[in-house]
Amino acid sequence: MDLRTLLDRTAAHAAGFLEGLPERPVGPTATLEQLHKTLGGPLPAGPSDPAQVVDDLAAAAEPGLAAIPSGRYFGFVIGGGLPAALAADWLTATWDQNAGLYAISPAAAVVEDVSGRWLAELLGLPAGVSFAFVTGCQMAHFTALAAARHHVLEAAGWDVETQGLAGAPRIRVLAGDERHVSIDRALRYLGLGSASLQAVPVDGQGRMRPDALREAMAGGRTSPTIVCAEVGNVNTGAVDPVGPICDAAHQAGAWVHVDGAFGLWAAASPSLAPLVEGVERADSWATDGHKWLNVPYDSGLVFTAHPSAHQAALGVTASYLIHAGEDSRRDAVTWTPEFSRRARAFPVWAAIRSLGRSGVAELVERCCAHARRFADQLGGQPGVEVCNEVVLNQVLVRFPDPAGDGDARTREVVRRVQEDGTCWLSGSTWQGRAVMRISVSNWSTTTEDVDRSVAAILRCARSVP
Ligand SMILES: *Cc1c(COP(=O)(O)O)cnc(C)c1O
Repeated sequence: MDLRTLLDRTAAHAAGFLEGLPERPVGPTATLEQLHKTLGGPLPAGPSDPAQVVDDLAAAAEPGLAAIPSGRYFGFVIGGGLPAALAADWLTATWDQNAGLYAISPAAAVVEDVSGRWLAELLGLPAGVSFAFVTGCQMAHFTALAAARHHVLEAAGWDVETQGLAGAPRIRVLAGDERHVSIDRALRYLGLGSASLQAVPVDGQGRMRPDALREAMAGGRTSPTIVCAEVGNVNTGAVDPVGPICDAAHQAGAWVHVDGAFGLWAAASPSLAPLVEGVERADSWATDGHKWLNVPYDSGLVFTAHPSAHQAALGVTASYLIHAGEDSRRDAVTWTPEFSRRARAFPVWAAIRSLGRSGVAELVERCCAHARRFADQLGGQPGVEVCNEVVLNQVLVRFPDPAGDGDARTREVVRRVQEDGTCWLSGSTWQGRAVMRISVSNWSTTTEDVDRSVAAILRCARSVP
């Protein structure tokens, strides 16, 4: 089979998957044993026809896939794939560029440069921020906090890139009690250790309390300090008061990092931007392309207001490489923890080109309106309780059991909804109680998707004795 026939056939598999979304169950249906049976077996002893390989993969993987691009997938915070971004992602794989250096792929470097500036403008960040395209928000935290570590230790007279951390002044990290676990993990990667982290009390929605931060700051005035704020709590969608946090932190010379994995996108909407007021005053920001911008997976974004700290922490040179030098050519390797890397900016560029500023704002606002519709329709029903202030795209729902255990009842409703297949969502624990967690972040979700899903959730809730 020639290459064009193989690629056409692969495109047909892709289109078939997407066209089948309205009818198939949203969750995966295959068991672990079934998947091992169809995908496993002994190491292949020799070659196979590529077309057969792709046909086999598509057939065997399908039942083990969640319909994540479906408008009725509300699990975690997942996003979807905009058509232009999906198609650009195919081209990215096809072109197979190593996007580490300008000299290897000028187009990848320029698209990254342009997309980074577009993103900063879209998200209302200061002009001149440095940026990098990484695998996800986890590595965006790592990158930003490496720059932060450099910056606060340099101010304390310590060169961490040369000396390492042994003997360095101890860095103190302050973060809200409801921070995302990827912050803790980034600190581990950076050798700061979880003991460097001091949790700051939060309010009932999970927002860091600025008064509690001021108090905590006062306790260690002389230590180099990093404060991690969050816009978009992974359960409630709540947003830390970043303005007052920056006031308290900057007064004491601390670096403020913002975990805005999905919530930072509120800044792209004129009507939601007041929610994240002050966020532009932080020192670094981590977010995702693969969540709310609806770029296919493997798309994290990081920005810092301190390009020299960013470059000092991440940059690298080697004699065999061809570096861009002092002109405006961009070498991504200067800004990322990776060396060889995928040209991740192509799908981001395509997403922004296809939506424009107004389209991104509409996408974010539409998801939030769908979340409010979920909350209104479910919250109005007997035996259903909405547990959070729905300020963004997240809804927490609980099914109290007057006769017994609301946790068990809620978990059982979640299980039945997953099994029903009309939509997919997951459970979580909020303030010690089991909840159903609904996250709306897919460009393709319609009002009808919400209404069908609400009906399925209520049907499942009523079926629990
Ligand atoms: C998803 C998420 C992360 C981690 O992002 P990845 O892209 O999965 O690495 C961090 N913080 C918050 C608030 C998130 O929602």
